[in-house]
Amino acid sequence: MTLLKSWVSSANSAETEFPLNNLPYGVFSTGGAAACGVAIGDQILNVTALEAAGKLTLAGGPLLQKAAWNDVMAAGPAVWDALRTTLQSALAEGAAEEATFAPNLVAQADATMHMPFTVAEYTDFYAGKNHAMNVGTMFRGPENALPPNWLSIPIGYNGRASSVVVSGTDVVRPNGQLKGPNDELPRFAPSARFDIELEMGAIVGTASDGMISVDQADDNIFGYVLLNDWSARDIQAWEYQPLGPFQAKATATSISPWIVTSAALEPFRTTTPERERPLLPYLTESKPMLYDIDLEVALQPEGKDETIVARTNYNEMYYSAAQQLCHHTTSGCSMRVGDLLGSGTISGPEKTNRGSFLELSWGGKEPLTLDTGETRSFLEDGDTVALRGSAKGDGYRVGFGDVTGKILPAPAVPDWAK
Ligand code: CA
Repeated sequence: MTLLKSWVSSANSAETEFPLNNLPYGVFSTGGAAACGVAIGDQILNVTALEAAGKLTLAGGPLLQKAAWNDVMAAGPAVWDALRTTLQSALAEGAAEEATFAPNLVAQADATMHMPFTVAEYTDFYAGKNHAMNVGTMFRGPENALPPNWLSIPIGYNGRASSVVVSGTDVVRPNGQLKGPNDELPRFAPSARFDIELEMGAIVGTASDGMISVDQADDNIFGYVLLNDWSARDIQAWEYQPLGPFQAKATATSISPWIVTSAALEPFRTTTPERERPLLPYLTESKPMLYDIDLEVALQPEGKDETIVARTNYNEMYYSAAQQLCHHTTSGCSMRVGDLLGSGTISGPEKTNRGSFLELSWGGKEPLTLDTGETRSFLEDGDTVALRGSAKGDGYRVGFGDVTGKILPAPAVPDWAK
């Protein structure tokens, strides 16, 4: 696949994350009401305004008047295809629609981004083998690093939809119950080991009731976002047995402002790694269901330059989102339009490929040295973290926009909580 040319000239650059090949969906405002928008080059096409003016018509519409993409998702794959085809045609070089569409463009630089969809429910998985090996080795030693079920089950936990926020939202360091060194009794205090997890998020676009196949799950995924699962490691270490993470993961989950559709990622499909233990038949993929997406993590101390602290790729995952979604339904669990599935932390094989500070600093034992000369084991107040990701085509790339979040100090612990 090569670059598709648009009459929006900034979309024809090899550097933009938003060529005509991409057309991701977001929600934006420029001082007034929030609207659904489609990124093209350095612009946003206001599709809410176009639909309201009768210049963009979707079957079963209106679908774009609620400042969220859930209505489009619920309308089904035929509408997803029709909208993408219409937009790719209308924004293509030489299209007759230029005269009617151009007045509905706004510069991304002038826009504030909002949550692109209403999250129905949020589930987070633990499906990166390098990450699971690293964390397991730190906590249990290399022989017991992987739980016995890990090579057979995409392990997950039910998170909180209320934790999901859009990129740019500040993240307040959590207070929580922490255990001191040397088996001291716990105390209530700010997390001192606040961390990130570099992940992709898959969005369920088609509801299901009862168990679905991996193929059906692949078809039901509307698109993907970049996702940062903010994690308080000291809260997690004390609370996680036996029911898994709880308050350690409930502070915030940041997502990219743009949903990149499965259709836009189609040219970048790739296979999951070789199985180390045969999967049960229901989890077997009939075709490549992962995607080749380069990822990076940047850390910027307040008022300083950023350092790229990690680079990896989504193709490191042991399980695809389709396998995770299929497994999620095995119990008969119903899935809803707008359900968000976090992939699990994405780490590559080398130290520079690790998608969390827990791994990058090996539990705090090997602090990172930033380009500024400062060191970090975990996040400090005032730090800004940016996640970035893009799939690379021939002379173009398909990206998500940065996922950023700045760490603000923990709230003062009130006297009654001490
Ligand atoms: Ca996670």
